[in-house]
This record gives sequence, structure tokens and C-alpha cells, in this order.
Amino acid sequence: MGADTAAADSSAPEPGGGGPHPGDHHTSVVERGAFAVALCSCGWKGPARRARDRARRDAGEHTGG
Ligand SMILES: [Zn+2]
Repeated sequence: MGADTAAADSSAPEPGGGGPHPGDHHTSVVERGAFAVALCSCGWKGPARRARDRARRDAGEHTGG
């Protein structure tokens, strides 16, 4: 598949072509050894915490919750 390229009009821009969306905040907590760090899709990164719950709190404060 992939040979049919003339079937659709590709002049319309697609919203969201993939990758991180600036302004969109999807946080997640990852573990770095004995620490937990909050990460966001906007590129933000929280400080390393000893408690995973604490890192989640950092993420919550970042998103305004
Ligand atoms: Zn963010």
C-alpha cells in the first residue's frame, strides 16, 4: 500500500501532524532510579522527587490543577 497518492486532494492542511503540541499539557510521571520526575508534552520537566506522589503533584501544579 502507499502507491495511490492521487486519490485525495492534499491541499488541505491537517490539524495536528503528530508530535508534541505546544500549549497542550499531558503530564506523566517517569521513574529515574530511586526518583520520580514529572514530564509534560509541552517540554516541561519537574524536579526529581523521592516520592512518585510528589512528582504527580508537581505535574498537577504545572497544569494548573
Ligand atoms: Zn506543560
